[in-house]
Amino acid sequence: MADSVPGYRVAVIGGGPAGLAAAAAAAGKLGAGRVALVDDNVAPGGQIWRRGRREPLPAARRAEEAARTAGALFETGVTMVDARALPGGGFVLLGERAGAAFALRADRLVLATGATERFLPFPGWTLPGVYGAGGLQALYKSGFEIAGKRILVAGSGPLLLAVAQAFRKAGAKVPAIVEQAPRLAVLRFAARLPRHPQKLFQALGLGLSLLPVRQLYGAWPVRAEGDGKLERVVVSRPGKGGKLRAETFACDYLACGFGLVPSLPLTRLLGCAVEQGRLAAGELLETSVPGIFAAGESLGIGGLARAEIDGRIAGLAAAGAAEEARLLLPQRRAEENFATALAAAYQLREELRDLVDDKTVVCRCEDVAWGEIRRCPAGRDAKLKTRAGMGPCQGRICGGALEFLAGHQADLARPPLFPISCGTFAELSRLAAELQEPPTETTHPGRKS
Ligand SMILES: Cc1cc2nc3c(=O)[nH]c(=O)nc-3n(C[C@H](O)[C@H](O)[C@H](O)COP(=O)(O)OP(=O)(O)OC[C@H]3O[C@@H](n4cnc5c(N)ncnc54)[C@H](O)[C@@H]3O)c2cc1C
Repeated sequence: MADSVPGYRVAVIGGGPAGLAAAAAAAGKLGAGRVALVDDNVAPGGQIWRRGRREPLPAARRAEEAARTAGALFETGVTMVDARALPGGGFVLLGERAGAAFALRADRLVLATGATERFLPFPGWTLPGVYGAGGLQALYKSGFEIAGKRILVAGSGPLLLAVAQAFRKAGAKVPAIVEQAPRLAVLRFAARLPRHPQKLFQALGLGLSLLPVRQLYGAWPVRAEGDGKLERVVVSRPGKGGKLRAETFACDYLACGFGLVPSLPLTRLLGCAVEQGRLAAGELLETSVPGIFAAGESLGIGGLARAEIDGRIAGLAAAGAAEEARLLLPQRRAEENFATALAAAYQLREELRDLVDDKTVVCRCEDVAWGEIRRCPAGRDAKLKTRAGMGPCQGRICGGALEFLAGHQADLARPPLFPISCGTFAELSRLAAELQEPPTETTHPGRKS
């Protein structure tokens, strides 16, 4: 099979706004058939443009068409589980599609793998009916019925507003949006919006559509309760004189997420440097590994506009058009400033560290409670002694929580990054071994020159 592995000049991993922009920019320079875009969803679009059973949004359609028209080839429904540098130069990506092995080679990579939600554990968070905020939105987009349901939205960040709006449009009732950041911090952040007219316009639209919904600031869920499934959530919120008081919300679902964290497993496999929980990159978004570029939320949480600019810069730079990429840097700097202000406004408060008690399960896959984990000084220690982070999700759920609660950094990743069938695993292992041999021929008709 090694000989039949297609080769490209540039492979983009992740088909969100960053990946689509990177593929369009790179293919625009390199020509048709030389750029591949890989994504694990059935259609490109990433998180914000996740399509499910619906037609793509106009912005998503434009981004997709731009990449296709430029000549990028789309490989969707592929989960990349391994990535390696090849001895003769370039990289191989190994994955699974529909239960079968999938592989491709590329001279250069653009990692645009996005972010995942941060879940913070609190008593009852494992009850059926408690979802990630973006996770429940993704389920609903794929056909999960939420009309008529009462959904409490809680956690932190502007994503809460976007999902609350989506739930209401779908016919759900949102009793409140519970934001942990203080009202003053959010107001200060909002005061920056006039400098970004498009964002101001979006925020006004969101604000108006959410006028009927109660919004609590400086508030957070402390307990989810119910008999076998979620029935109510107890929230701590400022009362008279700023003193904290508890309020209970009856609800069918809790949609809860405490911001986003960059998704870095592939990055770690490839040995790219990570700084302060995000992929480190130079001015033109090349990582510490020459030939590997990065774009979007893997570089830190920055929103749609920054993801798109990153994609264009990384795509152009990966295609060798460094000077053209450089022209976009002032735009990126403006978006970076916005992202820094966003992170400061929605910084997680200390009190959230006290939500766990010794019996609260933190690693859901391996059923490990906080009482066991808190005795371990480092993430590796926790893995070895308690198996926290070693289950099927490989720390994607508990990793963000452990970083916040215990300062444990997820510094290691091992293939396969996602569970795959034994047959695929055997095939990919054989293929990886074959490819480690020095290359004899790297040309594939119509693809790589
Ligand atoms: C759950 C969730 C929901 C969100 N919903 C909204 C919203 O409603 N509104 C909003 O404004 N912002 C939303 N955001 C934020 C939004 O995603 C960002 O602002 C921005 O669009 C990120 O773009 P991106 O291209 O960097 O990443 P993404 O859009 O996340 O795209 C990354 C893509 O890479 C794919 N990928 C990752 N690893 C692999 C792999 N190993 N193999 C194959 N494919 C892989 C992912 O599946 C994804 O499709 C959401 C974020 C999350 C995490």
